[in-house]
Amino acid sequence: MERKLVVGNWKMNGDLVGNQALFEQLVGRSPGSVDTALCLPFPYLAQGQRALSGSATMLGAQNLSEFDAGAYTGEVSGAMLADFDCRFVIVGHSERRALFHEDDLLVARKARAALAAGLAPIVCVGESLVEREAGRAEDVLLRQLDALARVLDGASLSRLVIAYEPVWAIGTGRAASPEQVQAILSFVRGWLARHVVDSRAVRVLYGGSVKADRAAALFSLPDSDGGLIGGASLIAKQFLEICEAAA
Ligand code: PGA
Repeated sequence: MERKLVVGNWKMNGDLVGNQALFEQLVGRSPGSVDTALCLPFPYLAQGQRALSGSATMLGAQNLSEFDAGAYTGEVSGAMLADFDCRFVIVGHSERRALFHEDDLLVARKARAALAAGLAPIVCVGESLVEREAGRAEDVLLRQLDALARVLDGASLSRLVIAYEPVWAIGTGRAASPEQVQAILSFVRGWLARHVVDSRAVRVLYGGSVKADRAAALFSLPDSDGGLIGGASLIAKQFLEICEAAA
């Protein structure tokens, strides 16, 4: 896709005062030729909604329930996120898969719930270091992607954003090389071409230790549509430089 998408994933970071400072440094400063979004912790969505309203930066969340409403203590529905003007929600981040036991089918059902609420799910896929070293990266990706196709029809799949996030590159300072990233992005594109009529409409991102100095090389890969940024999205200067690199 022509316009790149750069998404900040704040993870479980922030507080009211610090967030406000970050919003003030960010809002209105990212290049107009790039789509940008910030995925905040639930309690700060209202703050984000206010801070980002009228700006080009979109709001997102980091998780949602697979259910619509009812007796699900502690859960947050897609409709609730939409109520706060969220446009995106991260689904199946490797931290949720590993620490909170989210399996491939649950991730797919969450993506379905997000779509039903009018949100664009950013579905994270990626292999661990052990899986990569065993030569199984593509098998893992295929398993994760095929689960999406078991739950979603082609029209729904075309509304996803896919983020390739190798587990070994997340928060480690060790980004995958451009060659490694391009190989997997092209694998994902091949999968999409088999399942979605207009597969070019699906944005495919890379995430994992993206910093300003590496961003341009990663974003200029033939199959890259942008990035999912963790640590560097908490520092305004770094996040803006990464957005510039996508312009
Ligand atoms: P990182 O995180 O940029 O801090 O590696 C990326 C992510 O987990 O989405």
